[in-house]
Amino acid sequence: MKRGSGDGSVDERYVPHHGDPTYTVAHYDLVVDYVPESNRLTGTAVLQVRAVEPLRRLRLDLNDLRVQKVLVDGVRAKYRQHRAWVSVEVGRELAAGEEAEVLVAYGGRPHPMRGLDGDAGWEELEEGSIVASQPHGAPSWFPCNDLPSVKAPFRMELSVPQAFSVVANGLPGETRRTAGRTIQVFDQPEPMATYLATVHVGDFVQVDQATSPVPVGIVVPPDRREQAVAALADQPAMVAYFHDVFGPYPFGRYLAVVTPDDLEIPLEAQGLSIFGPNLLHDGWDAQRLIAHELAHQWFGNSVTLGHWNDIWLHEGFACYAEWLWSEESGRESADEQAAHHHARLA
Ligand SMILES: [Zn+2]
Repeated sequence: MKRGSGDGSVDERYVPHHGDPTYTVAHYDLVVDYVPESNRLTGTAVLQVRAVEPLRRLRLDLNDLRVQKVLVDGVRAKYRQHRAWVSVEVGRELAAGEEAEVLVAYGGRPHPMRGLDGDAGWEELEEGSIVASQPHGAPSWFPCNDLPSVKAPFRMELSVPQAFSVVANGLPGETRRTAGRTIQVFDQPEPMATYLATVHVGDFVQVDQATSPVPVGIVVPPDRREQAVAALADQPAMVAYFHDVFGPYPFGRYLAVVTPDDLEIPLEAQGLSIFGPNLLHDGWDAQRLIAHELAHQWFGNSVTLGHWNDIWLHEGFACYAEWLWSEESGRESADEQAAHHHARLA
C-alpha cells in the first residue's frame, strides 16, 4: 500500500485519495434520517476505530455533507472539514491496537460522487433514493474509512416518511412508527466493506421466495411485481446451487432489490443485489446477470479484494459462476461457454 501525500491518504489508481491506512474500523453504527421530498439527510455515525500505528489525528472520508460536531470517546474533538474528507484530532495519542469511539453528527443533501469510471453513491430518484457506491461512493452518505480492506460489522437505524419503505444490508430488526415516520433497524453482523453498504428508499412490496438455505426474496415497486417474480423465478435455485458448489451462503438473507428507474447495469451489495426493471426478463442476457450478482456474495462481498487493482478477481469468479449456472440450468455447458469466450479473445 503506497501512502499518498498529506493526511494519510492512499494513492491507488482506481480510487485515488480515499481512505486512511493508519487505522481500521471495528464497528459502524449509522443513524440516518432521510426526507425524500427535499433530499435531505441527517445522520449520526459512531465508528469504533482501532489504530494501526500510533496516531493523534485520523481522516474520515465524507463528501459534501456538513459536519456539525465530532466527539472522541464522548468528548468534543477538534476537526477540520474539507470537501471530501474530515481531519479529526483525537486529543491524545492512540497506541497501535488501541481503540476509540468517534461520533460524527452531519447532514446535507447527498449526491453521487464523480469518479474515474462514472458517478457512484447516494442518488435521489423521482420518488425515493438508491445507493450504488461501487467503487468510491460510500462517503456520499456516511463518514468512513473508505478502503475496501477496512471491513466492519454495521448497524443502521433508518428513518423515512411512513409513505415510504426502506431496505438496507443485513437483517431487519426493530421497527418503530412515530410522528409520520418509520424507523427501521438493520443489523449486518458479518464484516462489510464500505462500498457495499446500501440503502433503498421507495414504494416497495416484499415477495418471499424461499426460506432455505437462507431467506431469499424480492423487494420491488408494486407495479413491477409480476415482471420481477417471473424474471427472478430461478433465484432460489441459484442460491441453493451456489451454496452447494461454493460453500455455505455467507450472509443472513439474500434479496433482489428492483429500482423504479432503469439501470445501466445491475450491482451487488452485501446480502442483496440491485436490478433495474430493464434488466428483468427470462432471456439469458438477464439470467446470467442474476447469477453473476448473486455469485458476488461469495466473491467480492464475503471475500473482498485488498486493493481495487485486483477487481478482476471479483469479476472473474462471477463470470465463471454464470457459466456454471448455464450448465446447471440445462443451457450450454460451462466448457462450451468458456470456449466461446476464449474464441472471442483469440
Ligand atoms: Zn460483477
